[in-house]
Amino acid sequence: MIFKKKKFERKVLLQNDVLDSILSYCQMKHPNEGILILKGKSKHGEIKIDGLVIPPFSETGPTFAGFPHSFLPFDMSYVGIVHSHPSGSAEPSVTDLHNFFGLVSLIVQSPYDDESIFAWDSGGNSIPLSIV
Ligand SMILES: [Zn+2]
Repeated sequence: MIFKKKKFERKVLLQNDVLDSILSYCQMKHPNEGILILKGKSKHGEIKIDGLVIPPFSETGPTFAGFPHSFLPFDMSYVGIVHSHPSGSAEPSVTDLHNFFGLVSLIVQSPYDDESIFAWDSGGNSIPLSIV
């Protein structure tokens, strides 16, 4: 008998009010990048995002956004980060992948509307994102 491994289907569910907060935060930070920590739950590959945290000691500029991970308290509800790309595409840069935190990385590109947000895994592969 051949054991067939069930395919691990990942998806990201983003609460509508959290999306609104992300978009207004990124608009406010423009033309610099904005960065926020995503809070939520992960179950069977489904990542549900239901809150945001402003990272301590964050540093942002037009082409970078980061914060020292060592300052973060260990918190199982941190599922990833979201940051904005004020110019260019919503694809993760090499630096983004090096600084990957958590399970998912959301990237918002200008002009920061409902269609400007994308989810990525640590390998730079896109993850389906639904607004709930
Ligand atoms: Zn980036």
